[in-house]
Amino acid sequence: MIADAGRVLAGGATSNWQIAQPQAVWMSHGQGSHVWDVDGNEYVDMHGGYGACIAGHGYPAIVEAVSRQVTRGTHFAQPTEDAIWVATELSRRFGLPQWRFANSGTEATMDAIHLMRALKGRDLVIKVEGCYHGHHDSVQVSVLPEPEEVGPPDAPNRVPGNTGIPQAIMDLIVLVPFNDLGAVERVLKEHDGRIAGMILEPVMMNAGIIPPVDGYLAGLKELLHAHDAFLTFDEVKTGFTTGPAGATGRYGVTPDIVCLAKALGGGISVAAIGGTAEIMSAIGDGRYEQVGTFNGNPLAMAATRANLTHVINDAGYERLDALAARAREGFEDHIAANGLPWRVVSVGAKGCVAFTGEPVRNYRDFLEVDDRWGHLHWLMQHNGGVFLPPWGKVEQWLLSVQHTDEDVDLLVSNFGRLAAVAG
Ligand code: PLP
Repeated sequence: MIADAGRVLAGGATSNWQIAQPQAVWMSHGQGSHVWDVDGNEYVDMHGGYGACIAGHGYPAIVEAVSRQVTRGTHFAQPTEDAIWVATELSRRFGLPQWRFANSGTEATMDAIHLMRALKGRDLVIKVEGCYHGHHDSVQVSVLPEPEEVGPPDAPNRVPGNTGIPQAIMDLIVLVPFNDLGAVERVLKEHDGRIAGMILEPVMMNAGIIPPVDGYLAGLKELLHAHDAFLTFDEVKTGFTTGPAGATGRYGVTPDIVCLAKALGGGISVAAIGGTAEIMSAIGDGRYEQVGTFNGNPLAMAATRANLTHVINDAGYERLDALAARAREGFEDHIAANGLPWRVVSVGAKGCVAFTGEPVRNYRDFLEVDDRWGHLHWLMQHNGGVFLPPWGKVEQWLLSVQHTDEDVDLLVSNFGRLAAVAG
């Protein structure tokens, strides 16, 4: 059956991100912190569905909520009361008064960019080089450009992140490096009165993990508002990997718009977009039509409510922080014991090893990072018993509330094998 997959599924998988050599790993089931492939191999799951599975697999309260909703109807294209509960809870956590729902991170950031442009009546949007915001046209610019493509740092090339992206759309994006307020100030002055807003991952999590330097996020808000432009945090990945109120809560800066997805739904696909009263009024009065057949569908809302209530709460983050500290210490011990210059970067549930002794403050620095993790990925997956994303230094591990100390120790001991060879 699977040998036949390439005949009926383009590329032999259901997303290009599932393709890994020699073939996609075909999953049978998951439970707790473990997954099993169709050949019966068992892995500790630290891939975590690209940042979605903070609840792990089969979390009882989520299973219960989803099962109950399945028997009561999975789709009406009308709101259910859970949506009010979820929006109220997100307002409380993120400090933004109104919310809408969608089905993927891509849709959420697309709505955010439409809203910024619609409300300001301007087309230009600032984007950070190396940030990923999904696969719609406006943001498929300089996502993971190759070193030979990027151009000079003070005048970066707009590199298409996919085929089929019109140059005319890319020309509406103004690129800046992460962690550089001066660059944002420069482009705001250069394009004075033409910039609708800026979108960024408040912690870069699609180029390893690059945290914001002190004052960067607050400085962005100040600068953008001084130039009458909006600030959007794409918290699709950071949302519930960094804490109960995402990077917004962790760094104490509330933007004009927050986009959420991935871990929000406890494993069911859902996205949310929250905004200030001014911004969301454009949806309410119909100036901007935020729509979608499955928006706020009952299954997603029930799962999200259970997840916010039982998993991504203070107790959940205490557990995640303890696991993250264990992983970080384990990795650092191996790095020190082998006299390596590498550094562990861990923010909440997500972590990575930067294979460099140099600071990594933006995408250009990230390009200089070695990619030893590629070897480790293969080793871990094939006999190390840990399932990881196949992207090497781009994305490494995600912890869930169902991981155990033993799971973390297995990840760390696999890494120890690489460190011993490299040291
Ligand atoms: N934004 C960020 C920061 C992401 O990491 C991703 C996916 O990896 C997206 C947006 C797109 O989300 P989705 O794949 O649900 O469309």
